[in-house]
Amino acid sequence: MDVTLVDYLTGLPNMNYFMSLASAKKDSMTGAQQNAAILFFDLYGMRKFNSEYGFDNGNILLKSFAKLLTDLFGNTSCCRIGGDDFAAITEEQRIEDTIHELIENCKALVKVDGQVVEVTIHIGVYLFKSEDVSVNMACDRAKLACAPIRHSNESGFNYYDITISEANEKRQYIIDNLDKAISEHWIKVYYQPIVRGVNLRVCDEEALARWIDPVKGFLSPADFIPILEEAKLIYKVDLYILEQVLEKMKYMANHGFFMVSQSINLSRSDFDVCDIVEEICKRIDGSGIPRNKINIEITESILGKDFEFMKLQIDRFKKLGFSVWMDDFGSGYSSLDVLQQIQFDLLKFDMSFMRQLDKGKNAKIILRELMRMASSLGVDTICEGVETEEQVSFLKEIGCSKLQGFFFQKPIPMEQIIEKYEKGIQIGFENPEESHYCETIGRVNLHDLSVISQNEDAFNNFFSTLPMIVIEVGEETVRFTRYNQSYHEFFERYYGINLHGEEVPISVVMQGEGAGIMVILKQAAKEGKRLFVDGTLPDGSVAHYFISKLADNPVTKKIAVVVAVLSIKDSVQGEVYANIARALATDYFNLFYINLETEDFIEYRSNIGKDELATERHGDDFFRRAREDALTHLYEEDRETFVKVFTKENVLKQIDETGTFVHIYRLVKFGLPYYVNMKAVRMTRDKKYLIIGVSHIDAQVKQKQIVDKARQDQIVYSRLMALSEDYLCIYVINPDDNSYSEFQANSEFGSLGILKEGKNFFEETQKNANFAVAEEDREVFKKRHTKESILKNIETDGVFSSRHHMLINDKHVMVSVRCVLVKENGENRLIMGIRKV
Ligand code: C2E
Ligand code: MG
Ligand code: MG
Repeated sequence: MDVTLVDYLTGLPNMNYFMSLASAKKDSMTGAQQNAAILFFDLYGMRKFNSEYGFDNGNILLKSFAKLLTDLFGNTSCCRIGGDDFAAITEEQRIEDTIHELIENCKALVKVDGQVVEVTIHIGVYLFKSEDVSVNMACDRAKLACAPIRHSNESGFNYYDITISEANEKRQYIIDNLDKAISEHWIKVYYQPIVRGVNLRVCDEEALARWIDPVKGFLSPADFIPILEEAKLIYKVDLYILEQVLEKMKYMANHGFFMVSQSINLSRSDFDVCDIVEEICKRIDGSGIPRNKINIEITESILGKDFEFMKLQIDRFKKLGFSVWMDDFGSGYSSLDVLQQIQFDLLKFDMSFMRQLDKGKNAKIILRELMRMASSLGVDTICEGVETEEQVSFLKEIGCSKLQGFFFQKPIPMEQIIEKYEKGIQIGFENPEESHYCETIGRVNLHDLSVISQNEDAFNNFFSTLPMIVIEVGEETVRFTRYNQSYHEFFERYYGINLHGEEVPISVVMQGEGAGIMVILKQAAKEGKRLFVDGTLPDGSVAHYFISKLADNPVTKKIAVVVAVLSIKDSVQGEVYANIARALATDYFNLFYINLETEDFIEYRSNIGKDELATERHGDDFFRRAREDALTHLYEEDRETFVKVFTKENVLKQIDETGTFVHIYRLVKFGLPYYVNMKAVRMTRDKKYLIIGVSHIDAQVKQKQIVDKARQDQIVYSRLMALSEDYLCIYVINPDDNSYSEFQANSEFGSLGILKEGKNFFEETQKNANFAVAEEDREVFKKRHTKESILKNIETDGVFSSRHHMLINDKHVMVSVRCVLVKENGENRLIMGIRKV
């Protein structure tokens, strides 16, 4: 072959010579009714091969490839166009077989130092049958056909079609008009808000480029960014966007808006063509805006190439005070490995997670665990592509701190943001001073305690994870800010309320069953304590809570606390709680739950504020302990009786007879006696359990309640009598007309001959005193036993009591009189008991 017609390196025809050879070949094929095709070959990564193995090896590679082409097509049907580009003409028939053979042979094309190096080849194909063009143009088209696959790491081929040509034309348009698009402001910045999970306020905005072209119309990033990236021109857009963002920030600050951080996107080639770190820094410092107000978004895919270099650049950004975010996290393969090596400030979860979420349980688990991992690494999180309310609530639950997506807002230009503000329809900006607080409460993973809840009990079977909630406690209001699905179910089940993250006045909470827990919440918030407490639920069950303070809001002065429901006791003791524990809040200050077979017991004791909360004490040998305790806690006068009466046998006997056991006695507090009422019942479902409640009766109100209640049971008087055999007599007096009747009297008392009923109790008493009361006490007795004196005493102390000696069968007998005021069927009644002491 003529040396002027061949390529010096490979010995193949050069391009010009090939054009004429191919032209002739095509004509002869057409004459023989065959379809011709042009193939264009691009050896991928030739530059890298040269730098890795040297030029000599590079030349060997090119020569070997030329030899391969000669073997397949013949040495007059192929050529080297230049560099690592080759072309060939062949028959269309069986063309794919030929291509596959070639790709196969490329796998072992060269050896360097005895090692086979695999070569990637991209092939573009032009079929003349689609349009009869010159060989020259066919070569161009075959080359264009290569473009869509030119970045693939794998060998492959692609046919030319008309759209490729159009794409090329567009590509050229973008490149040619870029500078103009910038100077004429065809490129515009659209802003998409990033919303904080806990307050749904805008905490950041992302700047996204749009190209609004006078000829081609609206172009989205997908239309021009890849082209500019490939042409290594994207840095122009990125720096321009930054400049626009800085201008906007200044404008917003000057017009009284909170200045939230703005994030900008960078491409890989930004780092190749200039010192982008330096360029960005220069512009920001020149604008007077703090560096930490700009977030740099870098996609995971950028890092793949030349990792060490990129790591260095990211470190530089961070050292200079920028936040660096990993964009599209989870879209590639290297995510976890990268996280070990680069400390990003935030992970932005790729939109694909949201698309997967509705598809099944696994996506939820994966996202939840990744979120947990991010929080353990101390990295903030965003999910992008959030489009539905369900996604929002799930993300809030798993502690995703920020959310971005069409659910909140599509990207819009600055003018629209301002316009929306003016109309009052834009999502408000977060006050940057609150950001740290919001970040802290947003990060709590409400699934964190799920590990504890693995015991097999009813509670855990019902709730898949522990119910957890973050509550913000203010002076006037509380807000149920974040909670998980379990808490939502818990609240709905026990309070019948569907939570919606609402803010509620504290006064409202204090009215309901939540009053006790409110007291604790305030305590935890104020004192920063971690507390384990019990709280009574509306159905009487007792919930065991863990409460811990999280953070103070410096702006609103609210304090965030996290509450976890660790257990709910409603299984075995269900009946107790359901029927009686509710009364604990109002009536009982002590409640015992006793196993009659073992005499083991649990004590619930109200201890906080409105008596909502109970702590537990477990013990054994209940009756013996109770009698022992009586000797130290009871008012001296009542001890002996208590010890006598409060035996297991006696209690059960009474219950068998009347359904309940009731005993009234006095305890001592600060040296003063006060009356309490003890009531015992057996559990109807399981007779081996006994429930005993002890309540105050020193307040008039409570006393009335107890007597009322007891009367409804129609056992009050008999019970009173049964409680103490020492009662001599009980009178029921109507204080409105002074009439009275004797309810019951023992025989001793009967011997006094006092009338069993009469018109005026107080008059009769004064008369009777002359013979029934011992002389030395008579005067005092008469003074104290006037109607006025008795009622006055009851009014101030809740009970009238006095002592005197009676003359019974000529004997001086010391008696104690007690009188209380009750309501019977809406009427006042005084009940007076006289008892031997
Ligand atoms: P990106 O940084 O991941 O940006 C998020 C993209 O998701 C944006 O598309 C945004 O409009 C879109 N998006 C946000 N929320 C939703 C949603 O709920 N549903 C759906 N379907 N999409 C949502 P956009 O603006 O088309 O940007 C695409 C990509 O182009 C960006 O992805 C970013 O990688 C790149 N890009 C955009 N502007 C610039 C720029 O100025 N410079 C550089 N280098 N790249 C940019
Ligand atoms: Mg982005
Ligand atoms: Mg993204």
